[in-house]
Amino acid sequence: MTAHGNTIHRPRPVRDDDLFVVSIHEGELQRIANWVAEYPRRETGGDLFGFWTHTGAPAVQLTLGPGPNARHEHAAFFQDADYLRNRGRRAQDQYGLQHIGDWHSHHELGLAEPSSGDVSTALRTLELNGFTRFLIFVANIRAGERAMIRRRFTGQVQINAFLFERGRPSFRRGRFQVLPGESPTGASAERAGIIKPVGGELAPVAVPVVAAPAAGPRPQGWFTEQWGTEFLRRVDATCRELFRDCRMMVTPDGALTYHFSNAAGNWSMAFPPDFPDGEVHVLLEERPAARIAPHASMTDADFCRTVTDVVTATTAPRPAPRVEEPTEAAAAEPERSDVE
Ligand SMILES: [Zn+2]
Repeated sequence: MTAHGNTIHRPRPVRDDDLFVVSIHEGELQRIANWVAEYPRRETGGDLFGFWTHTGAPAVQLTLGPGPNARHEHAAFFQDADYLRNRGRRAQDQYGLQHIGDWHSHHELGLAEPSSGDVSTALRTLELNGFTRFLIFVANIRAGERAMIRRRFTGQVQINAFLFERGRPSFRRGRFQVLPGESPTGASAERAGIIKPVGGELAPVAVPVVAAPAAGPRPQGWFTEQWGTEFLRRVDATCRELFRDCRMMVTPDGALTYHFSNAAGNWSMAFPPDFPDGEVHVLLEERPAARIAPHASMTDADFCRTVTDVVTATTAPRPAPRVEEPTEAAAAEPERSDVE
């Protein structure tokens, strides 16, 4: 699954009705663009982690670049297998994400789609791993004259998406639904040292985007908006200072759950899709511990303090929780509630 050989033979063309939509944050596209710009004349690549929506559309949450022992050749890229295994396990353990695809660059080779070698590799990946689908990004460098002038990257990185499905001999072409800002998972993975922050100048990047507001399900929610990303960053930073095993998980219907643990056990905060209108359910060992109803003037810091108070009250010997106790109805509810 890690080799990409390129030949000049083009795979057979696909029809327009084979289009699919892939969602990804701007920040993750930027990571790929900068990795591509580091290798203007050789191939580079990495891996895509995320989940599949109900309709089988890929949602990329985290991107991985080339490992330290990856091989970069003129027309082939071989990922560092140990690096992928290690980082892949962490992406799964900490964020519940799956390895849903690969990306690699054709730098200035000109071919803006998978080569016949890439097609064979992708089909073999489906076969060997028992996957039903696999996503491939191919990146190209478009440059007026040369991509590098005096060691500065002057090109533009174009990224195209392709979907391979078991039983289908060729691929489907993707359109991007670009989510604003940084992926909360990407930001968290940076702090956890799973990936490195994007450094240096930002390489210009372009992708084919969905024309109108996307048809079909969209894994979008309050946490994809600027304020939501910043709010989560604050909550994540606070929790990491005080608790262990901090991680967040997002479902395609827009529910986000933040997990952490301390001496009292495993905690989770279930944010409703309509947050901050809806209440946040705080659970200890899957049982309701408190509900936090954000009021209009509640700041990020207030929210963090409320969470800390709930946890402290429950963990310390005896004192009663200061936040509303769950009602009996709440106690009888299933673990995750996205109604109300
Ligand atoms: Zn290729």
